[in-house]
Amino acid sequence: MRQPQIWFLTGSQGLYGPEVLDQVARQSGEICVALARHPGIVAEVVAKPVLTDTTAIRQVMLAANADDRVVGVVAWMHTFSPAKMWITGLDALRKPLLHLHTQVNRDLPWSSIDMDFMNLNQAAHGDREFGYVQTRLGRTRKTVSGHLSNPAVLARISDWSRVAVGVQALRTMRLARFGDNMRDVAVTEGDKVEAELRFGVSVNTYGVNDLVAVVDAVDDAPVKELVGEYEQRYAVAPELRAGGERHESLRYAARIELALRHFLDDGGFTAFTTNFEDLGGLRQLPGLAVQRLMADGYGFGGEGDWKTSVLLRALKVTATGLPGGTSFMEDYTYHLEPDRELVLGAHMLEVCPTITARTPRVEIHPLSIGGREDPVRMVFDADPGEGLVVGMCDLGDRFRLVANEVTVVEPLADMPRLPVARAVWRPHPDFATSADSWLTAGGPHHTVLSTALTREHLYDFAEILGVELALIEAETTSRRFAHELRWTSAYHRLARGL
Ligand code: MN
Repeated sequence: MRQPQIWFLTGSQGLYGPEVLDQVARQSGEICVALARHPGIVAEVVAKPVLTDTTAIRQVMLAANADDRVVGVVAWMHTFSPAKMWITGLDALRKPLLHLHTQVNRDLPWSSIDMDFMNLNQAAHGDREFGYVQTRLGRTRKTVSGHLSNPAVLARISDWSRVAVGVQALRTMRLARFGDNMRDVAVTEGDKVEAELRFGVSVNTYGVNDLVAVVDAVDDAPVKELVGEYEQRYAVAPELRAGGERHESLRYAARIELALRHFLDDGGFTAFTTNFEDLGGLRQLPGLAVQRLMADGYGFGGEGDWKTSVLLRALKVTATGLPGGTSFMEDYTYHLEPDRELVLGAHMLEVCPTITARTPRVEIHPLSIGGREDPVRMVFDADPGEGLVVGMCDLGDRFRLVANEVTVVEPLADMPRLPVARAVWRPHPDFATSADSWLTAGGPHHTVLSTALTREHLYDFAEILGVELALIEAETTSRRFAHELRWTSAYHRLARGL
């Protein structure tokens, strides 16, 4: 994949003469180098010549739109850059925008400051003019204010850069569904046409027997090799190991994995769904295969849940390289001890091992639903840490993201009879506020659990996509949250237009 780029645009004007513009260009270069060197910014930062007129501004914006490498644009108004000349360019820009409000000098040169210094270093003034025009145009952007020596400033730009890369992945995403949604489930339904318009993702369904044909065609040699990898990498149950009485089940799980990879890579798919009600000629519900594909960055949703699969893929791309992990998840059952309430999250099989640093066990157990052969799966406990659960629902006229800040904790005791991977978390601000608010927002039971991302990533993600975000956080109260939902509902209906 080609290296993603962020273009760095500096605004100025000719009022103060060519020498001042040369200084602007040098200082623009300094800021750009500081951004380019920061390891948290996950795209190449590309300096563009200082912009001083309408035509050049419009042309650079159109060029950014047309270049698939460009995931976003950072704009900084150095001297007093009159913003009227940015109107047509900003109106044309379709890429994520970050308005960086900074200046080269951290400190005022108190003893030497003169009018030349004042005229050169007036982003305080130019960026206000630029802010006005962006707001006047209704232009969505992230505004980051402060000196680049402040780690918090660079962290906010870094977060945005990750999200811009994640959104770019979404824009060209292709998702394969094997079968339709689980029968009679409401929340996993959704408008695939709207999803393609809003997010860019193309969601299409394939007959599961198209996959079965690939499974049946897999050669023995790669199956043997992959089983060897399982045995080396995981704590594989003795009955599943070579020579064990259920080894054939592990071989079949490997066959599913190889076939799924082949099918997805062949079609350029980076996300998929399965449905245990529609397995065609598959002998096992894919478990281990799905877990390993998620670990490699593929999006997944169970029971045909393509919305969660889309979200998982986009958030996995966003989180690439960060500590912690990101998984498909489902709120399963609760521990309701007063003041120590916990959520037990899991799925029938499909939990991503990136949320643990421990070695997963590979086991085989019966599945009480689906009526097929027992499926192989990885079993583990998620590592403790701060995280988020995020779900997406379709409200009929728009998508809504519902999210909750959580702390993943160690289980209070071992769960030796639970045959699936799981995470135990404490929802913030407390169980009752979290659950009241989640239910009021109509949030789904399928989510993405991430211990890699923070709420800042979610803010940026929702803002860039123009999607409603209902975030239950440490400061949330049920009553205020319910009010916020009403306001944001009104806003999103108005913002959509007629
Ligand atoms: Mn489910």
